[in-house]
Amino acid sequence: MLGDAIKNIVKEDVQVVVLMGPGIDPHTYQTTQKDVQQLKHADIVFCHGLSLEGKMNDLLERIAQEKKVYAVSDALHTTQLLFEDIFPIGIDPHIWFDVQLWKQVVGFISQKLQAARPESAAYYQSNTFAYIKVLEQLHQSITTQIASIPKKQRVLVTAHDAFGYFGKAYNIEVVGLQGVSTVAECGLKDIKRIVELIIERNIKAVFFETSVSDKSMQAVVESCAHYGHKIGVGGYLYSDALGAPDTLEGTYCGMLRANTTTIVNALK
Ligand SMILES: [Zn+2]
Repeated sequence: MLGDAIKNIVKEDVQVVVLMGPGIDPHTYQTTQKDVQQLKHADIVFCHGLSLEGKMNDLLERIAQEKKVYAVSDALHTTQLLFEDIFPIGIDPHIWFDVQLWKQVVGFISQKLQAARPESAAYYQSNTFAYIKVLEQLHQSITTQIASIPKKQRVLVTAHDAFGYFGKAYNIEVVGLQGVSTVAECGLKDIKRIVELIIERNIKAVFFETSVSDKSMQAVVESCAHYGHKIGVGGYLYSDALGAPDTLEGTYCGMLRANTTTIVNALK
């Protein structure tokens, strides 16, 4: 998501290296020796912050002693964040799922890049302006589409609690199986709690995630069947990583459009 935001601002002006690619789970990501080299060679480093890159924190702090390292979540005011005990630092890091917040993040990144390369500042500014317009349209489109799902059926059951900001921004109830971070193991109690809720609310579908194992959600589907409630799998949602490069889902906007279509088709 971060790499995509930066590429929309700088285009071909600078080389953008993304350390965590498609299908990667940032909560559990282990830094490689190659990553360390890439970070050492970089002129400027952007990370997400809010402890999303949990295992990289120490390395990022070390790198920050030598060069500019920005946590893009610093773009937001604390009142815009969701506080949940289940997260490592008590804050939900999945801010990209509210396009309005992501717009702020894009503006923040753009400012830092303009300061770092004054000779390209005007170019970055005009690219940012154009991209923000695209994000505004995206926000409107998601709002309209999610609102088309009848209120009672508007419940998103997913593998880990990545969709809190999405739920708040687009008015859809979100139930996660695994807690906010994928590090936490999903227990039998969690599965039982979700199965009861699905049956009680007559929910039509649950969703898998591209960067999280299907195992626990599969257990939910089987358990529902055991109790005579037929539940569908609405498909895969992109949560903490984009799709493959050169596919529609390989961009931030494409990823959100794909998720929205998947959700609307399964729940409506
Ligand atoms: Zn996550």
